[in-house]
Amino acid sequence: DIVESCKPSGLIEDACCEYKTIEQVNDEIAPFLDDLVKTSFFRYVKIDLNRGCNFWKEDHFCFQEGCAVEPADEAEIPESLRSAALSSVDYNLATDSSFPQFVKKCAFNDHDFCALDDPLGLHEIPYVNLLKNPERFTGYAGDSAARVWGAIYNENCFAEDKGATLDTVMNRGGGDGGNDNGVCKEKRVFYRLVSGLHSSISTHICDQWMDQKTGTWERNLECFKYRLGMFPDRIQNMYFTYVVLLRSITKLGPYLQSNTWCSSTSDAKKIKRLVSGMIEKTLSCPPTFDERALFTDSASAVLKDEFKEHFRNISLIMDCVGCEKCRLWGKLQVTGLGTALKILFSFGDDPSQYYLTQTEVISLINGFHRISNSLRAVERFRNRVKDQEEIL
Ligand code: FAD
Repeated sequence: DIVESCKPSGLIEDACCEYKTIEQVNDEIAPFLDDLVKTSFFRYVKIDLNRGCNFWKEDHFCFQEGCAVEPADEAEIPESLRSAALSSVDYNLATDSSFPQFVKKCAFNDHDFCALDDPLGLHEIPYVNLLKNPERFTGYAGDSAARVWGAIYNENCFAEDKGATLDTVMNRGGGDGGNDNGVCKEKRVFYRLVSGLHSSISTHICDQWMDQKTGTWERNLECFKYRLGMFPDRIQNMYFTYVVLLRSITKLGPYLQSNTWCSSTSDAKKIKRLVSGMIEKTLSCPPTFDERALFTDSASAVLKDEFKEHFRNISLIMDCVGCEKCRLWGKLQVTGLGTALKILFSFGDDPSQYYLTQTEVISLINGFHRISNSLRAVERFRNRVKDQEEIL
């Protein structure tokens, strides 16, 4: 029953709150996020779309018009951002020797769950205005997209699976198979985060679908039914991904509230007000996710490293997405999720010790906004299905 699968109830598996609580929290937080992502600090982002695919030959030719990303005009970027190469949210590598210098493109900082594009701001990466390049249907599909999703789900194969035959791994590659019973919690969490992200991307594709015959944008109910409505797990995984992002933002709250925003004075004031409003809401909600319940036993250090390595690989696989706009949003959302994991599993309790790059903060907030929007879109689709059923 699609109406029911769109509105899961009870406790969210692997979390410590109910679906209904998350819906209430999202109703309260979403308006703040909607406004935050429109501010100049959060709408301009530097994402390297030309890093190249490390895994296979991908010629990055998507001939669909919807795939192109329009870089921001130098003139439209606020002065405060142009000169914000080293803002207070940037890595403070010079003063903290525990953070190693990046020596080459794909080197990782030990704390990171993602391969960041340019953490030291050494390369000329053009800004993109996210509002002018919304995540929506682009027409990207076929072998290239399937290969990327397959490679992403194969990252769910941890060391304990190494004995698995190629067949079983490949069968898992299409997604959905990773939700086996009896797998350890950490591995299940990994799978659910990726699947939740996939669900959110699919939701946006169906919510802003281009009817290629008429050239108009519309909400495509059939698309939603076949990609999400018929798969309750996929919708539940999306709620779970939301919960993990929410928890990371709650933990980051004091850091975000004390941050000096590199933006015009009026924009900075607005951001401060919106961030405070959002954080107050997150603090007043009941516990949602307990990151301390993961990586608890003696083998957990190895498992955590493996988890991190697999997530970093996913961030690198994003460079293989053959459509520029999908690559932009894919990289941004994976960076957002990687930032959330870093906050939860690499950072301690003292916010004064936290270091995040500008791109990480922007990706976290925009990534959270994407999933927040997807939850609201599921509700709209659900109402449509209900209306349809009533007419029948
Ligand atoms: P796909 O979505 O390609 O899924 C492949 C297989 O994965 C399915 O057959 C199913 O077995 C499994 N699966 C599907 N959903 C889930 C889930 N939630 N959890 C677990 N398993 C699942 N297209 C756009 O139009 N706009 C975009 O912005 C866009 N962004 C993209 C970003 C990335 C990173 C990638 C890899 C692709 C993107 N695409 C985008 C393409 C889009 O995601 C689909 O691949 C494409 O629309 C084809 O869809 P499909 O129905 O064949 O299934």
